Amino acid sequence: MLKVEKLNVYYGNIHALKEISFEVQKGEIVTLIGANGAGKTSTLQAISGMIKASSGAITLKGKPITYEEAHKLVPLGMAHVPEGRRVFAQMSVEENLELGAYTIKDKKQIASDIEKMYKRFPRLKERRKQLAGTMSGGEQQMLAMARALMSRPEMILMDEPSMGLAPILVQEIFEIIKEINADGTTVLLVEQNANRALQIAHRAYVLETGEIVLSGEGKDLLSNEQVKKAYLGA
Ligand code: ATP
Repeated sequence: MLKVEKLNVYYGNIHALKEISFEVQKGEIVTLIGANGAGKTSTLQAISGMIKASSGAITLKGKPITYEEAHKLVPLGMAHVPEGRRVFAQMSVEENLELGAYTIKDKKQIASDIEKMYKRFPRLKERRKQLAGTMSGGEQQMLAMARALMSRPEMILMDEPSMGLAPILVQEIFEIIKEINADGTTVLLVEQNANRALQIAHRAYVLETGEIVLSGEGKDLLSNEQVKKAYLGA
């Protein structure tokens, strides 16, 4: 589904991503874990065209997208739920969902997809008329995920969906990611909550100061001594 080869990203003199290579197969949940500043967000931003790669190649379903602009990726089947949610604060929940479906012309499909989102995220239904900016952090995270799903992506990129949420909501968000994947959406998940991320991921890559230092199946990395010491608080 997604292939990243020898990706390099610089911010001025800072070499933030160093020859990163990894792939995500159709149907997988793959997670990138790593400490603050390891390069997780930069990796997702380079894939989704929010920042420019200095060199390297990124392909989505075999099509080169290395220098593709962000808005062109949604019609190609990729949606991004960025760090910090970025919902449209001055619009209602329902308007946010409608905007998520901007690539879809069929009004009936949009209406039925909104109903599906309300089933999956009942809290959004209760608050359908509320301004998105007045919702809690967890509610905004759910809205950001639902809005991304409105484009019916084949693949979704998620940046730290559990950040700043109460433990009960963290649990819920990870359950929802599993459900989204079970429904057929491929997931690339960036997380500081390595424990939870590795529990739901088929495979994982560990980023350290811009380099991939370890990779493997999620469950194997959960019991890896190096990972336990550095990321699981063991
Ligand atoms: P966090 O979990 O704290 O968000 P991260 O793993 O997502 O961290 P990035 O945000 O990708 O890490 O940052 C990787 C490195 O690039 C860091 O050293 C960061 O300071 C640097 N960096 C990121 N964005 C910029 C920018 N716009 N200008 C300069 N340096 C940047």
